[in-house]
Amino acid sequence: MKNIAVIGAGTMGNGIAHTLAQFDYKVQLIDISQASLDKGMATITKNLDRMLAKEKITEADKQRTLNNISTYTSLEEGVEYAGLVIEAATENLDLKLKIFRDLEKFCPDDTILASNTSSISITQIAAVTSRPEMVIGMHFMNPVPIMKLVEIIKGYSTSQETYKTVKELSEKLNKVPVEVNDYPGFVANRILMPMINEAIETLYNGVAGVKEIDTVMMLGMAHPMGPLALADFIGLDVCLSILNVMYDGFKNPKYAPCPLLVNMVMAGKLGSKSGEGFYDYSQNRKAEDVAAMFS
Ligand code: NAD
Repeated sequence: MKNIAVIGAGTMGNGIAHTLAQFDYKVQLIDISQASLDKGMATITKNLDRMLAKEKITEADKQRTLNNISTYTSLEEGVEYAGLVIEAATENLDLKLKIFRDLEKFCPDDTILASNTSSISITQIAAVTSRPEMVIGMHFMNPVPIMKLVEIIKGYSTSQETYKTVKELSEKLNKVPVEVNDYPGFVANRILMPMINEAIETLYNGVAGVKEIDTVMMLGMAHPMGPLALADFIGLDVCLSILNVMYDGFKNPKYAPCPLLVNMVMAGKLGSKSGEGFYDYSQNRKAEDVAAMFS
């Protein structure tokens, strides 16, 4: 498996491409938007420069990594030789189903098809292909070059062989793969999102303020970031959509999103990416700066 296509050059896609290229895989990075590809490559270059400044890599490593990535706006051309495709396009069911139907047409018969989805059913995605045994979830964490975990999600029909290949690849990338079955939220979000939702509910009920809630979890539970700052970092729209997937999937009110979260998303307060969430991100302040306020 030398050629790996990555679909989507956004936050996750460029991080996945960076990591694969650093470990000498040839990466075909595909996006419908040339502007997203340019932005994704600029982010990869900036992140490599940061590693270079910290002397974690050499100039030659940086160049080799960049040379391992080629960019495409055509899915058909980008996946032509792929041994594996990792889809990291926008979190939208219809969009992902369309991409997987297209992959079926354009990929070689033995290409493994993986999705980095945070919440959509791998079994449902696999069912639109004629190779459901070769469809799997590869859920990387943000920022991909730094975070060690990859949740590997086995859909209802995923074969052991596919699982083994993807597990071994994750280990080659110096990640720690964890095997998970395909149920809403998988493991990471099933545990994380109710905690974030409860933190929002605590705020909504007037028990304590934003900074107070985050301080309790950081200083009391040794979390590196408070749950409200983390929600801002992930994106409040993303948190809402994952909670809704779990609420619909389990039909259990414990996953019902807090009305304050729903209101904030409707008001366009999406966290650091929109400039405001539980914290104010004007003047270029980032989620990491918010976390630093507590130290
Ligand atoms: P993003 O919005 O940053 O990037 C999505 C990219 O997909 C955009 O560049 C967009 O142009 C591109 N795209 C849309 N339609 C496409 C198509 N048909 N073909 C090719 N490219 C297309 O999103 P993201 O945060 O990188 O999330 C991507 C996936 O990763 C989602 O499934 C998300 O649930 C998952 N995920 C996100 C995070 C996170 O923290 N952001 C963490 C884990 C998993």
